[in-house]
Amino acid sequence: MTTRRAVVAGLGAAAIVFGFDPATRGWISEAQAAPFDHVPDLDGELVTDPSSVAPFAKDLGNIVHHTPVAVLFPASVRDVEKMVSFCKARGIKVAARGQGHATFGQAQAEGGLVINIGSLNQIHSIGPHSADVDAGATWKSLLQASVPLGLTPPALTGYTNLSLAGTLSMGGVSPTNREGALVDRVQALQVVTGHGHAEWCSAERNPDLFSAALAGLGQCGIIVRAVVDMVPARAQSRVYLITYTDNATFFADFRKLLERADFDGLYNIWVPDGSGGFLYQLNAIKNFDPASPPDDAHLLRGLHYSGVESSDSSYLDQVLSVDVLVDFLESIGMFSTLTHPWFDVFLPDDRIEAYVGDVLPTLGPDDVGPTGFMLLFALKRSKLHRPLLRVPECGEWVYLFDILTSSPTPNPGDEYVARMLARNRTLFEKARAVGGTRYPIGTLEFSRLDWLRQYGPVADELFRWKQRFDPRGILTPGPGIF
Ligand SMILES: Cc1cc2nc3c(=O)[nH]c(=O)nc-3n(C[C@H](O)[C@H](O)[C@H](O)COP(=O)(O)OP(=O)(O)OC[C@H]3O[C@@H](n4cnc5c(N)ncnc54)[C@H](O)[C@@H]3O)c2cc1C
Repeated sequence: MTTRRAVVAGLGAAAIVFGFDPATRGWISEAQAAPFDHVPDLDGELVTDPSSVAPFAKDLGNIVHHTPVAVLFPASVRDVEKMVSFCKARGIKVAARGQGHATFGQAQAEGGLVINIGSLNQIHSIGPHSADVDAGATWKSLLQASVPLGLTPPALTGYTNLSLAGTLSMGGVSPTNREGALVDRVQALQVVTGHGHAEWCSAERNPDLFSAALAGLGQCGIIVRAVVDMVPARAQSRVYLITYTDNATFFADFRKLLERADFDGLYNIWVPDGSGGFLYQLNAIKNFDPASPPDDAHLLRGLHYSGVESSDSSYLDQVLSVDVLVDFLESIGMFSTLTHPWFDVFLPDDRIEAYVGDVLPTLGPDDVGPTGFMLLFALKRSKLHRPLLRVPECGEWVYLFDILTSSPTPNPGDEYVARMLARNRTLFEKARAVGGTRYPIGTLEFSRLDWLRQYGPVADELFRWKQRFDPRGILTPGPGIF
């Protein structure tokens, strides 16, 4: 609450909105408001002045700029219910926004209402098996509260300053390979549907809404609260940076380590090798208690790397290490100001090696950028259970391949954006031709036909859920699915 008020105060003279004029399709101030058309009383605030709404017409991509007419800073679930009901009655589009780190307007709503879900960020309880958290809270804030209690979520994104709501709407891919995606570790959700009613749902209770909300891209409801799995956290982590120069050797070792399951997490980062190519840097994470440190020789047995180094840290420092890097980039003006045309695709087990082997040599320095990087995550297919997280059907392992491109300077221009969008489309077509699917955090022009193909066997179900939970079609226009 304090944070939200501070934000609003910091925005200066934020105009409080009192109504919506259906004739002009515009929001109206107190002076203009007709009594019959008043916005309901809210615990939080609704703002409309240009300087207050402007930050909600951008995201990390810095490519799409859809300006909402109003932004809600909710102070209660009731606020979300009231404003969704209000917008439903008037056919106004609504998008919830967590931390705004999607890269192609996914959390934006041109001429509509954006709900700043980060205003709802209370941690209600943390227990040995679950945490009950407002969906606007970040994984980072949950970790900072839970790790001192010896507890952690079993699956986490690499960067944790992301909202539960945003990651659970996308899917949430974790470097922990055998724990499922973040959406697989949710026990219950409270969701405000397009009818403007908050409902609790789980695998047993209201299971359709549960399935529609998890990895649901906000199409059927706004997640306002989540009960997520918690497990014991070890005190320390050792991270091995294992380097490779050759695609086949890297994949042979990566697969060997995935099968052995000795490590708690494995993912690869590619870094420039200084001569126009890329070095493979396999990050292998082993969590431990100080009394029983890892046996390096045993863990690294039989591998064919070109180099290895390791470092120890507390578990909390390890899971927050990407946050430290991002905070540093932000402090030198090299993060949120830059353009991020990200490419993100899931690929099947039997195609990933050839795909990476083909794509890497086609990439130049511009494709990654001075502060960008490329990532490879591996997830055990049998641990992925949510129908709307669309991953390839075949193989024991599913891989997420990301080119997290960052422009060299702010505002790189239309030609740069067009070139990167074309690149992403080409790479996506190549991936889809071998059974790949889109991870929708990224920057990809996607038609309704593309979405139909993406959802494949669950498309009909999704259309039925949309009809049932958001019949006016007001929720989350950004992805352009309906
Ligand atoms: C540095 C960095 C590292 C990352 N690492 C990973 C990673 O390891 N694994 C991974 O999976 N992803 C990763 N991501 C991507 C991240 O998961 C997505 O960008 C996600 O969208 C971020 O959450 P957010 O809070 O910023 O969501 P937003 O961008 O604000 O929202 C994302 C989508 O969710 C919708 N949404 C937001 N709130 C709600 C709600 N309450 N109810 C319904 N829909 C809602 C929005 O409308 C939008 O469509 C990373 C991103 C960054 C910037």
